Amino acid sequence: MEPSQETPEKSHVLAIIFPLQGHLNPAIQLCKRLVAEQIRVTLLTTASTSRTIQREGFSSDCMAIEIIPDINVVGEDNSDMFEVFFRDYKASITHGVPQIIKKYDNTGIPIKAILYDSASPWIVDVAHANGVKGAVFFTQNCAVSSIFYHLHNGSLELPSDQGCGEILLPGLTAMKLKDLPSLAYDTNSYKAIRRHLIDQFETCGKAEWRLFNTFDKLEHEVLKWMARLYPILAIGPSIPSMYIDKRLQNNYEYGLNLSAPKAESCLQWLDNKQDHSVIYVSFGSLANLDQKQMEELAWGLTDSGCSFIWVVRDPEFTKLPQGFTSSPSKKGLILKWCNQLEVLSHRAVGCFLTHCGWNSTLEALSLGVPMVAMPQWTDQTTNAKLVVDVWQTGVRAEIGEDGIVKKEEIVACVKEVMEGDKGNETRRNALKWKDLARDAISKGGSSDRNIMKFVMELVNSN
Ligand code: UDP
Repeated sequence: MEPSQETPEKSHVLAIIFPLQGHLNPAIQLCKRLVAEQIRVTLLTTASTSRTIQREGFSSDCMAIEIIPDINVVGEDNSDMFEVFFRDYKASITHGVPQIIKKYDNTGIPIKAILYDSASPWIVDVAHANGVKGAVFFTQNCAVSSIFYHLHNGSLELPSDQGCGEILLPGLTAMKLKDLPSLAYDTNSYKAIRRHLIDQFETCGKAEWRLFNTFDKLEHEVLKWMARLYPILAIGPSIPSMYIDKRLQNNYEYGLNLSAPKAESCLQWLDNKQDHSVIYVSFGSLANLDQKQMEELAWGLTDSGCSFIWVVRDPEFTKLPQGFTSSPSKKGLILKWCNQLEVLSHRAVGCFLTHCGWNSTLEALSLGVPMVAMPQWTDQTTNAKLVVDVWQTGVRAEIGEDGIVKKEEIVACVKEVMEGDKGNETRRNALKWKDLARDAISKGGSSDRNIMKFVMELVNSN
């Protein structure tokens, strides 16, 4: 993974990664693939983010980290904390980038391009203003990105009838309103985030490269459609190599964690379980479940009779029902954080009860783990639709009228995925996607070729 001492580095990329775990993980992994191809990568982060980063499992020989000061813009008061964050983040990056680019100008390996997150679409202008190229990285899948393209372009009119009608978009399966990313139709909450998602396409055409964390066979039709608008490169699945193509030695984890507790190992616990007998439950790094939902989940897992590992982050811990953690009959292990790939790749895990964040979904697809989809918001609803109806590697836990997934529903879904004919079919499909994901990122596969194309163009660019 680290560039060999004998082989000179061929080019230099500055990576500006959006400071959320689900954005950081695939971008870091892409950077590791670039480093393996003798591209130097320097990570840029603000001082406030750098204080929350834990670097266990991250080699600084592999990538240097440059820290720039935070700028807090003095402006009109704004009650939208996301709006304030985006404003200050933009000011910090815009101010910090020129100094970093200058710093490397006379080192013999000047920065040639900025790799940036599609959630910060204005970075391409910062890159161009500083004489370097821009490569935008979409951390959501192409289907979800295409829906925000249509919103930006005005080519998606949302039905007003709360969604009985079908929405037909190019390259996508027919969807109901509720299958769209929640921020597509929920125009009242998280306005700043919604605007950013739509704005992704404001500057998309200006970037020299557009990279997507997906692979050709997974989203063939919508990728083909998107490729008619812009040249694009599907480079996924962007997951640690040792779980998929094994070409980057010792690459077992993404390596950088933001505010996450130290990963707890559960391999010994899993080693004592039978094949495909354990449910792994996680709602990612951000989800904030309703207390009632946590209770239904706790008793649903208990009633399933299966062993389970449930990642419950600190802010969620107090929502667990009384007596649940101390109940002697429980067959569960509660962890604050784990190496999710280590768990998903263990032979004992039989299904993943997931919120369908894109990384979790792609990790499960790439490791052949059937899913019970319990989406909460943003792109998760669309990812769940694709898992169930298109890729057919899971079932969806349906929400009751009170907005809660009941424990009986959880038991039924888990049994459907883990047992019987339906379970066998879901597992067969999951294994098919596992093979296709590995083929895509292995040497000569479609995503590997796209990474190599990006590398070649970088190296040959002025
Ligand atoms: N993750 C992890 N340990 C955990 C839970 C999650 O390493 O205990 C990782 C997971 O592998 C994934 C990321 O955190 O790469 C979560 O990203 P995702 O897009 O699934 O969800 P988000 O956190 O953005 O909602």
